[in-house]
Amino acid sequence: MNFIPYGKQTIEQSDIDSVVEVLKSDFLTTGPKVKEFENALSSYCGAKYVIAVSNGTAALHLASLVLLNEGDKVLTTPNSFLATANSILYVGAKPVFVDIKEDGNIDLDVCEEMLKKDSTIKAIYAVAFSGNMINQSKLKYLKETYGVTILEDCAHAIGAKEGEIKAGSCTNSDISIFSFHPVKHLTTAEGGAITTNSKKLYEKLLSLRTHGMVKTSSMKPWEYEMHQLGFNYRITDLQCALGISQLSKLDSFIHRRFEIAKKYDEAFLKESAKRKENSIIKPLYIFDGTSSYHLYVVLVDFTKLNISKEELFLKMKEKNVGLQLHYIPINKQPYYRQLGYESENTPVMNRYYEECFSLPIYPLLSNEEQEYVINTLFEVLK
Ligand SMILES: *Cc1c(COP(=O)(O)O)cnc(C)c1O
Repeated sequence: MNFIPYGKQTIEQSDIDSVVEVLKSDFLTTGPKVKEFENALSSYCGAKYVIAVSNGTAALHLASLVLLNEGDKVLTTPNSFLATANSILYVGAKPVFVDIKEDGNIDLDVCEEMLKKDSTIKAIYAVAFSGNMINQSKLKYLKETYGVTILEDCAHAIGAKEGEIKAGSCTNSDISIFSFHPVKHLTTAEGGAITTNSKKLYEKLLSLRTHGMVKTSSMKPWEYEMHQLGFNYRITDLQCALGISQLSKLDSFIHRRFEIAKKYDEAFLKESAKRKENSIIKPLYIFDGTSSYHLYVVLVDFTKLNISKEELFLKMKEKNVGLQLHYIPINKQPYYRQLGYESENTPVMNRYYEECFSLPIYPLLSNEEQEYVINTLFEVLK
């Protein structure tokens, strides 16, 4: 068996052709493909405005610049990639880490308790962890009741939906962001996007993407004005051509991820039925159509086994299966500890971190490979 990573991109000849076509054209960057990609994303996820940028972290940085002021308190999750909380620090605001629920997403009930006690909390940065939608009715309620600003980090969640509400539609949030890193659902190599329904935010974001510059039709032909301190967070036409091609296949990618997720669910439930007790491997959640399954996360109580998580990772790697762990709690990172974080009251996150790991899931994972992963896992854990 060849090495099976936890995630991998799907690049086909049509993707390659679309990039080569741009290479032969007049514009390698800031040409027609950027707007075309943004329009395609807008119609896919249903948000009015989309700004494509150089990566998901740049998307978070620009979002934080338009949503937050220095010193603002922002409730966020310890269960994410570093960039979510880092973007709050970039603008001099203050992340406040809130515990997660059993499904890995931020606990919005705890957020509400905190909002009740502290009216100076400015925003909630929630992550649709592993592709699982953030509870939309609760978001709506928090926004309406407490006037809190909401960002949805949908880096894992493009293609996910709760009822009619799609990830990135900003139905109940001010801004959402996507990442198009190769390990995510669709890739532009590096790339990201910001979505919003606010024209005012959109215009600010557009200018921040390119150095804070504005150019209007009433200006002289050579004129541009800088109104704010912006960046070069542009994405290229090469990348956007790849993105357009990938987006046209996204639904089939997700369909395949669903098949893989259901097959894992079934294997672990069957195993627990056979043993007439709780399975040694529990899916973080069972398939119900609201997750787009960027990750397939399982929980194992290692205190009941003769093998540690570290041994499991090493043994699986020896057998050519790549496991991953999502995530080390952000508030326990050395940099955050040095800022005074670490001792937040996050019992669910702490236990989750002990038990969780992620199994291979990506469209090109074959049935045979998946069966090999499942069998090897059972063999090593027993
Ligand atoms: C990948 C990811 C990001 C950052 O995206 P990049 O494109 O790698 O900068 C942000 N948040 C989450 C939850 C991610 O998984």
